[in-house]
Amino acid sequence: MICPICNHPPTDTVRINNGHSAQLCHECDFLMTVTETDPLRVNAETYPLKTRILTYFLREKEFTSRYGAILALIRRHARIESLLEIGSNIGVFADFARQRGIHVDSVELHDECREFQRLAYKIDAVSDLSALSGRTYNAVVLMDVLEHIPGPVEYLCLIKKFLSRDGVIFLQFPNKNSWASRLAGEKWGWWSAPDHLYHFSGKAVHRAAEKSGYHVVLLNHVSPVLDDLEGIPFLGRLFSPARVLSRWLNVNLFISVKGGSLIQALLKPR
Ligand SMILES: [Zn+2]
Repeated sequence: MICPICNHPPTDTVRINNGHSAQLCHECDFLMTVTETDPLRVNAETYPLKTRILTYFLREKEFTSRYGAILALIRRHARIESLLEIGSNIGVFADFARQRGIHVDSVELHDECREFQRLAYKIDAVSDLSALSGRTYNAVVLMDVLEHIPGPVEYLCLIKKFLSRDGVIFLQFPNKNSWASRLAGEKWGWWSAPDHLYHFSGKAVHRAAEKSGYHVVLLNHVSPVLDDLEGIPFLGRLFSPARVLSRWLNVNLFISVKGGSLIQALLKPR
């Protein structure tokens, strides 16, 4: 195995969730899950359609608030008249953006998720980027996606051609160096191996951006507060009852804090 960012061999092995291990590239501060499984099959088995629908249904308030914050963040750095979402899941964010007057195209690998988008939101998602060849967008959004894609540097290179002049890429993924991951160790909920092939740090984002011809306009650590509190060993379960309120209130506030369990980054081509 070599690091897909710097092409050097990893130096250490680290234990992550459920007995899985990952190899660490010190150079990039980047972890790679050791696995032989097919990522697409694993993802489909980990998140069946009914689980995806139920998650968004129960946490609608939370996601609405989160998506509003993400659009506001992107707007501080680019105008957004058109947006491409890659890995659009069941289409909740794509629909949210479209309802705010943005032209949205949507890419989703899973057939049943695309079908749900069509039935629920009348969004005709495509299964492959090549179907959108020649189109450009002010923003390309990959939320919780890049950690699933073999060859993240090549993928970042590939999607550059979908950016209009002054367009930005918005990325979000788990932060392997978050305080929650350090406290919970192998029990941290976002290792998610073998579904997550890669585990990013801020340094890895900078390295991957540099290698694929981007500069990092912004890099934030964000904490979904309730998720992170629940992840605290032994004490975490004390916070779980707050979840029952999530149908009516956003009980999982999304705050910018150093060491938060998610990294959000905006990239622009160099
Ligand atoms: Zn590396």
